[in-house]
Amino acid sequence: MNYLRRRLSDSSFIANLPNGYMTDLQQPEPQQPPPPAPAPSSTSPAPERRQISQSPGTGFFSSLSNAVKQTAASAGLVEQTPTSLTKKFKLLLVIDEPHNEWAKMFRGKKVHGDYDIKVEQAEFSEINLVSHSDGTCNVDMQVFRNGTKVVRSFKPDFVLIRQHAFSMAENEDFRNMIIGLQYAGVPSINSLESIYNLCDKPWVFGQLISTYRSFGAEKFPLIEQTFYPNHKEMITMPTFPVVVKIGHAHSGMGKVKIDNHHDFQDIVSVVALTQTYTTIEPYIDSKYDLRIQKIGDNYKAYMRTSISGNWKTNTGSAMLEQIAMTDMYKLWVDTCSEMFGGLDICAVKALHGKDGKDYITEVMGSSMQLIGEHQAEDKQLITDMVVTKMNQAVPRMPIPSPQRPTATQQPQSGALKEGHTDPSKLPPQRPPPQGGPVQPQGLQSQSQARPSEQAQSLSTQGASPPLPPAPTTQQPQPQGQGAPPAGKMENQLRQSPSQPAPQQKPQPHPQLNKSQSLTNAFNFTDSSFFRSGNEDETKAESIRKLRKSFASLFSD
Ligand code: ATP
Repeated sequence: MNYLRRRLSDSSFIANLPNGYMTDLQQPEPQQPPPPAPAPSSTSPAPERRQISQSPGTGFFSSLSNAVKQTAASAGLVEQTPTSLTKKFKLLLVIDEPHNEWAKMFRGKKVHGDYDIKVEQAEFSEINLVSHSDGTCNVDMQVFRNGTKVVRSFKPDFVLIRQHAFSMAENEDFRNMIIGLQYAGVPSINSLESIYNLCDKPWVFGQLISTYRSFGAEKFPLIEQTFYPNHKEMITMPTFPVVVKIGHAHSGMGKVKIDNHHDFQDIVSVVALTQTYTTIEPYIDSKYDLRIQKIGDNYKAYMRTSISGNWKTNTGSAMLEQIAMTDMYKLWVDTCSEMFGGLDICAVKALHGKDGKDYITEVMGSSMQLIGEHQAEDKQLITDMVVTKMNQAVPRMPIPSPQRPTATQQPQSGALKEGHTDPSKLPPQRPPPQGGPVQPQGLQSQSQARPSEQAQSLSTQGASPPLPPAPTTQQPQPQGQGAPPAGKMENQLRQSPSQPAPQQKPQPHPQLNKSQSLTNAFNFTDSSFFRSGNEDETKAESIRKLRKSFASLFSD
């Protein structure tokens, strides 16, 4: 290790590395050109050292490169390889509990005729993600399956969300994941916009109020309800009993039946501690609950009657029966399915009172539990709808990367010449690289249209089927096109997006040859190994940065 440290302290060693400094981090280029003659310098390497620098694929460099590749892959900094480009699948991420096995539902299903659907399933609590403004979303997933920890990193082409994105119960706020998916524009069922909007029940109820106003109580019998942003205005109620619904939670949580003024005062004192909103509605002495569900174009209606006697029919035991769809029910659910840009999967909840009247209370989205005897059919309907939507929303082929041409043409743009940068045309600026010529990879994925082909298993221990081989870190590129070496990867991994932009590039000289232009395009003018001059100081600075970048990797 000390020897390697010394080797990296040696500027000639670095300068001699051809076209980037870790040959095994580049695509296979069997005929690597021999390194140029070492620059005359007082630190000229000893012959035996030069020999080592030329020896291809040393074990150390291989493992180092693999480590960088893996880390970069998980950070979404890798570009797909031609091999991965040819993979014939689109990746569907299903957010659901493990016992609802979705992978088998999509077995044999195709997108665009010949792309398989590869399913990754996890709960919200098992994923994390990184989204970029170029439209890529890297999901990291850690799940336990059969006692085995499975870790994967992939870019979903589509998401099916079957879990609540938000509950005020502890650790059940996954709106950040919804935001991340929406940020990258990942198509989804239900739409991410609608899922986000359904994260506050009173917000949804506001929509129901609008519908009620359009249709009237006859056609759309919405329950009477009052909203309190906090406890302060909760003084008294004109009539009892009432149902107090605190915050946004599910499965009966936070719903309290209040029979008298004293109990009301008690519950107000509890609300005062919750720091959230509350809604209050009259208690409906009901015969049964109603659920009118719509999955795509399929309608079903159910009634649920409490057996255990709990006023919440979804708590304790209850009897579920499918009932006939009526025009009225259809109107309710059709209307509600248009909320927030459309709900592919939805259900309207209502209470059927002993007074014979119906009271609509709520709308659910794609996180609704499947119930009744026809769950298998409902699951099939959801599957078919996902396939249809994937065919509509997922591009057949990844859009060719605008990154490379943009980058190579960048210095020639008028905007640059005039000192302007158009953010829609230019990749974000990066600090000068610490290695050879590189492609600014973090941006290439704008083109990649969430290529599932990058799906890879970072570490799979156990029975789960291994994912395809991890893509390598870059596409093979013609010499001089800037294949990214490890140093760039390392650089990206260490950068935060908020790092200051590097110094403005100098204007390209009209007489620059292609390779020089490219150098400028990648903003290497200060440190590129393409430089042919004798700017030893600049080179020394590059080497210093390189050493710093790899310090942690060399410090074992
Ligand atoms: P979800 O889990 O679907 O998000 P939730 O179960 O937390 O919702 P609700 O469905 O509003 O909350 O209430 C739970 C149960 O309480 C209902 O199924 C119904 O039986 C009962 N209930 C709710 N509101 C009323 C009401 N105003 N009057 C009588 N019973 C009610």
